[in-house]
Amino acid sequence: MRDPVLFPFYNDLSSLPGVGPKLRHVLARLIGGETWLDLIFHLPVSWIDRRNRATIEEVQVGEIATINGTVDKIDHARMKFPARIRLRDDTGFITLTYFHANRQWLEKTFEIGKTVIASGKIGDFQGGRQIVHPDHVLSPDKDDELPEVEPVYAMTATITPKQIRKFMSAALDGIPALDEWIDPHLMKRKNWPGFKQALLRLHQPKVYDPDGFETARQRLAYDEALAREMAMGQARLARERRHSRPIPRAVGVEKQIVDALPFKPTRAQMDAYKDVATDMGRPIPMRRMIQGDVGSGKTLVAALAAAQVSADGGITAFMSPTEILARQQAEAIGRFLAPVGIRVAALTGRDKGASREAILNDVRAGKIQVLSGTQALYQSDVDLPELSLVVIDEQHRFGVADRLKLTAKGASPHMLVMSATPIPRTMALAVHGDLDISVIGEKPANRQEVVTAAVPDTRIDDVIQAVSRAVDRGERAFWICPAVDSEDAGDASAIQRRDVLAGYINAPVELVHGRLPAQDRDAALEKLRTGEAPILVATTVIEVGVDVPEATIMVIEHAEKFGLAQLHQLRGRVGRGEKASSCLLLYQSPLTESGKERLDVLRRTTDGFEIAEADFRLRGPGDLLGLRQSGLPAFRVLELARDANLIETARTDAKSVLMADPTLAGARGVAVRRARDLFAPRIADMMADGD
Ligand code: ADP
Ligand code: MG
Repeated sequence: MRDPVLFPFYNDLSSLPGVGPKLRHVLARLIGGETWLDLIFHLPVSWIDRRNRATIEEVQVGEIATINGTVDKIDHARMKFPARIRLRDDTGFITLTYFHANRQWLEKTFEIGKTVIASGKIGDFQGGRQIVHPDHVLSPDKDDELPEVEPVYAMTATITPKQIRKFMSAALDGIPALDEWIDPHLMKRKNWPGFKQALLRLHQPKVYDPDGFETARQRLAYDEALAREMAMGQARLARERRHSRPIPRAVGVEKQIVDALPFKPTRAQMDAYKDVATDMGRPIPMRRMIQGDVGSGKTLVAALAAAQVSADGGITAFMSPTEILARQQAEAIGRFLAPVGIRVAALTGRDKGASREAILNDVRAGKIQVLSGTQALYQSDVDLPELSLVVIDEQHRFGVADRLKLTAKGASPHMLVMSATPIPRTMALAVHGDLDISVIGEKPANRQEVVTAAVPDTRIDDVIQAVSRAVDRGERAFWICPAVDSEDAGDASAIQRRDVLAGYINAPVELVHGRLPAQDRDAALEKLRTGEAPILVATTVIEVGVDVPEATIMVIEHAEKFGLAQLHQLRGRVGRGEKASSCLLLYQSPLTESGKERLDVLRRTTDGFEIAEADFRLRGPGDLLGLRQSGLPAFRVLELARDANLIETARTDAKSVLMADPTLAGARGVAVRRARDLFAPRIADMMADGD
């Protein structure tokens, strides 16, 4: 299947000169891969400018500089280290320090009165300047042997820069120059080098040229964007060639459901549903993502979609990341759909044997039309021939592979993915490029802003009293702890905190954490929902999706330890009803700079989009996008924030290539296919929906 031209890229690291099993292991860890391809994409993090010549007086601690000096003093006892060699020029003295070195080489290189060129990182030694183990020492007549510029790599202790450069050089010598896949006009406009030239410029630069390095990096970033867009574009084409049963919109059923709601759906909810209804009405599988902040009411949209499917005689599978959520969603959807007689059941890992069989039989017999479950839904014995719609809630909790397993059931079911991560459109497309996106950009009008305060944990007694008073007034509260037991969190452990609160508060205090059996967790949550227990102490198992509209207080202990997105999710558990809500972020002093900033962001805004942007700024995009969990290969060169324009360009270009040559048979097509295979080998397979 692989293009033979690319074979050298897939050579194993062990085929590099001097790489034995041990070194291979270390190198593979360092570069995150095992092939030459992985090696050459281990791009330098910076470059050293060896032309940076300076007098001794001018050099600054921390910079890399090259100086000319005369050996003035040699200080080492025979056979003992460190050896110190003092150089001088007209402006001062500097010491070269060796903690180990070849004795003969030292004696040959440094003679009193001889002039040398020394290059390396300037340090401080007893108030004077020093270079510890200079990178280069040469005599002035060899000046032209000093490279003008050298790449610097992310390193591990056991591999030297020299070794990396040697391996890199061997790999770069061994890979072919490839036919250009970028449009010549774009190349010219951007002044981009060819693929291999770009790699050579970055790894083996002849001149120190920061702009040139960035141009080369951009070329490779574009390559990567193009490769991904090609893979996703091809997957999309493949999907559009497949047939799904078109499901007509059931206007009557829809109206009945909406009329029976205790609230009026927002415009944004209905618009999102319209997108879904239209997609499902087409004879090709829907792949749509609904993005909406916590509390924006995504479940209703999914419920309407399920009703449309059910009216057509089909089955909907609704997948949640946890049992609690699966059961809660079964209930919520069941409530929405009861007026039209649609039955919803939960099916999770807990349902075993006879009860599981009974549920599945009811589904097969058409008595149950919507199944709400966890991963158990796609266990192999679940056979859902009429499966027409798969809904995936809280998509960031699932990997692409999970998603694909589910859609492999049934005959090309439609798929609806729901996400509370409001990410900028370009980025969403770069990561989930196979999905169409609808945004619910509005919250139900009845929502109250959640008032948020950050409180040092020294004031915990005040907080407990405030919560206690609120409970007396009939309010309900979540109390979040960072860990289950005291080994990990001291007083702030969920188990201990529950006991403390139970001592203060004149009402049952329930407890939920990941080590409790699912039944107990559900029971505890149920008690909060009914009000039987007005306080629920929990770990972050409660984080996603839990919906108790009557809860008005959220206390989060050790808030400084949580990420922004997570805090936002947690806070989203309150402010869901008509009553004013508050969120108390208890923190341990002193706060770190970033801890302080995170809490400030939360106090300032409840807007998920703003919070996502701040999170992005503070931590980078990796986690925010759920990239790690998504199971998609991470980017090699692309930086989402920086390369947004390149991604846009690549998307347009990929489309036009595919339009002109859908099978990639022409010369450009073959070249582009190579780019795709080099940069995005796994994506095409993953996106192909398992067929
Ligand atoms: P999320 O988008 O976070 O999944 P949910 O679908 O769980 O939000 O909805 C949160 C709560 O808001 C639920 O109790 C739901 O019944 C309620 N809700 C949904 N839509 C509206 C609306 N238009 N007006 C008022 N409440 C709504
Ligand atoms: Mg939800």
